[in-house]
Amino acid sequence: MSISDNIQRIKKEIPQSVALVAVSKTKSNNEIMEAYHAGQRVFGENKIQEMTQKSSELPKDIEWHMIGHVQRNKVKYMAPYVALIQGVDSIKLLKEINKQAKKEQRIISCLLQMHIAEEDTKFGFDEDELKALLKSGVIQELENIQIKGLMGMATFTENTIQIRKEFKTLKAMFEVIKKDLPDITEVSMGMSGDYSIAIEEGSTMVRIGSSIFGARNKT
Ligand SMILES: *Cc1c(COP(=O)(O)O)cnc(C)c1O
Repeated sequence: MSISDNIQRIKKEIPQSVALVAVSKTKSNNEIMEAYHAGQRVFGENKIQEMTQKSSELPKDIEWHMIGHVQRNKVKYMAPYVALIQGVDSIKLLKEINKQAKKEQRIISCLLQMHIAEEDTKFGFDEDELKALLKSGVIQELENIQIKGLMGMATFTENTIQIRKEFKTLKAMFEVIKKDLPDITEVSMGMSGDYSIAIEEGSTMVRIGSSIFGARNKT
């Protein structure tokens, strides 16, 4: 199957209301352009340097999403153009994004990354930290960021019952914080291996890499 066949197939599978982020990390400009010519405009990367290089070389109507862990000292490189920072996992990072957004006279959209998996290698807030963040009033104070919703990654396992349970947890947290942040709309969950379950559990945004582009080269 070609990249464009894969995109057409996945687009048919997912409801129109669910956004497809094509995860293009480690993939070449040519591969991204193949997806682009199939109509794809939203791409996800996990390294700021790689994303910045691609954004400078590729069409300007591409929306770039940062889906990986973000180091604060690198926020400035993506602040001019990034469309959505999905992996916001600390208050310090939120403040830095706000500072850099202000310099660029932009409002940068962000998702708060939640730790829903069993593995402790996956970054993110837990439920108590999220509640503390909401209570602190920081989100309301930071005028150059807009929180659009939550993002999470399920445990890497064959156990679909567990995956489903983790997605349910994320969706439930979304409903809880929507009471304080009524403008949030996005629950970013679901990757190549688990996006069907994620959509059943209320995902509004899936991040799909290998099912579109094939297996990644190790970096
Ligand atoms: C790599 C990555 C994806 C895509 O993974 P696939 O299994 O290739 O679809 C999605 N989300 C995040 C945060 C990633 O790092």
